Amino acid sequence: AVVADAPTEHIFRSPLPDIDVPDHLTLHDYIFQNASLYPDKPCIIEHSTGREISYAEVETASRRVAAGLVNLGIKQGDVVMLLLPNCYEFVVLFLGISMRGAVATTANPLYKPAEIHRQVQSAKVCLIITQAAYVEKLAEECEQHIQILTIDSVVEGFQHVSALLEADEKQFPHDVVINSDDVVALPFSSGTTGLPKGVMLTHKSLITSVAQQVDGENPNLHFSTEDVVLCVLPLIHIFSLNSVLLCSMRAGSSVAIMQRFEVVALLQFIQKYRISVIAVVPPIVMSITKCPTADQFDLSSVRKVLSGAAPMGQTLEDALRLRLPNAVIGQGYGMTEAGPVLSMCSSFAKFPTPVKPGSCGTVVRNAEMKIVDTETGVSLPRNQAGEICVRGKQIMKGYLNNVEATAITVDKEGWLHSGDVGFVDDDGEVFIVDRVKEIIKYKGFQVPPAELEAMLIGHPGIHDAAVVPEPDDAAGELPVAFVVRASGSDISENEIKQYISKQVVFYKRICKVYFIDAIPKSPTGKILRRELRRKLAEEAAL
Ligand code: ATP
Ligand code: MG
Repeated sequence: AVVADAPTEHIFRSPLPDIDVPDHLTLHDYIFQNASLYPDKPCIIEHSTGREISYAEVETASRRVAAGLVNLGIKQGDVVMLLLPNCYEFVVLFLGISMRGAVATTANPLYKPAEIHRQVQSAKVCLIITQAAYVEKLAEECEQHIQILTIDSVVEGFQHVSALLEADEKQFPHDVVINSDDVVALPFSSGTTGLPKGVMLTHKSLITSVAQQVDGENPNLHFSTEDVVLCVLPLIHIFSLNSVLLCSMRAGSSVAIMQRFEVVALLQFIQKYRISVIAVVPPIVMSITKCPTADQFDLSSVRKVLSGAAPMGQTLEDALRLRLPNAVIGQGYGMTEAGPVLSMCSSFAKFPTPVKPGSCGTVVRNAEMKIVDTETGVSLPRNQAGEICVRGKQIMKGYLNNVEATAITVDKEGWLHSGDVGFVDDDGEVFIVDRVKEIIKYKGFQVPPAELEAMLIGHPGIHDAAVVPEPDDAAGELPVAFVVRASGSDISENEIKQYISKQVVFYKRICKVYFIDAIPKSPTGKILRRELRRKLAEEAAL
């Protein structure tokens, strides 16, 4: 019988060769594997206190935490919530939880009580670790007798982190047997497109993801023991937890932790500790480029700028290059479910290769990427845009308690469907066009808001902008812009429309402009489009 050939799949791989990933280890053993080579080197530098904590101290403190968790009755597989800003304690708590064989779920202390409560319920949290200022948000958790512990001042009726940090590390739970498929981290996705989803990441997935970035003879993201890496992005988000903290510790770099972003303090911090790598999101890049006093600081130590989480347009990148002429600027592309990194700029490699502006680098090693047609699911060749899919041991085990959503996102062949539209070019570089769900359909034509936003922000009279669809009977959807004027600018709606029309095909023209004071964004710089759509609906109802 004649069997029809299966249609060829177009699969993209990293230009870097695959490496051996020690994914049989536990995450903490992997992270501390080389630490005995540099026990006295600062692992953590804390901006708020000036403390410097060595690798040996961090490892001991993590073991104490693991012993202390046993004393508190935390069992293997139990979920502990870190409701914390960036700080030293976050680091040893996270690693101590891993050593206990427990699971860390991370949440933003600035969340409203209902948001925290939702995550506590959904993750079945047994213990919450937070700062004294936030215990008042936890009334419902108190009623349910969930253990709560503060890391700063002692609050009456609550336990204190000293129960963990002062435990006897010799009582470290030696007998716990951790499987590499056990969940260690339970981050929640950002909630840009709907409610945040709990994402199960195992020891194996995080080790694989970190190794794909910083391991090998020619690491894709070259961090060394000489590097000081800025950690200002919230550690509760997997980008910062993985690509900043875990990658730095694996490579023996120092992690310079900043609790809150403030541009002048950040520039001072870079100057003071000669920070060499900064991980940022586009709104931080924007503040640095627009900071009037930036040239008063010595930023010559910065060698790498890694931007991620949201698109960084070329104008923004060019403006940053003027500020940081010594730095290689590039992007990584991640999503929580992918562990999180899908692709990384190859100019960050030990033996770097150039990338084009706007590119998110090449797919990480030990992984496969394909681009599928959003209607037919067929894989597409180079230079054709479709949904980005990735496969490899780094991806999530699944969504927490949601078999249906997991089955939709990770197909039977193990491909994780990202929900992002993009393409891979002739050099293997990944370009993100936009999210599948955010593409505006104007009379059937596709309009990617991210492209228009990059143009708008490039105008000197515009401080910030977001483009969203406005429902329209004739066209289906119209691209409309929310614009924040630059200070001193009085740019008009018409000037903005003309500025865009000159640069784009007719169907990508902006149909309306709404001036606004600030674009609503998440702490990692993602535009909260649902809020803007709500504003539009309110306008329409008037
Ligand atoms: P949710 O899935 O809960 O709606 P979310 O997708 O924003 O929220 P995250 O997992 O934090 O939650 O973010 C992943 C998304 O961020 C990616 O799917 C992609 O759309 C976007 N993203 C990440 N890195 C980049 C980048 N370098 N350029 C453009 N977009 C990026
Ligand atoms: Mg998502």
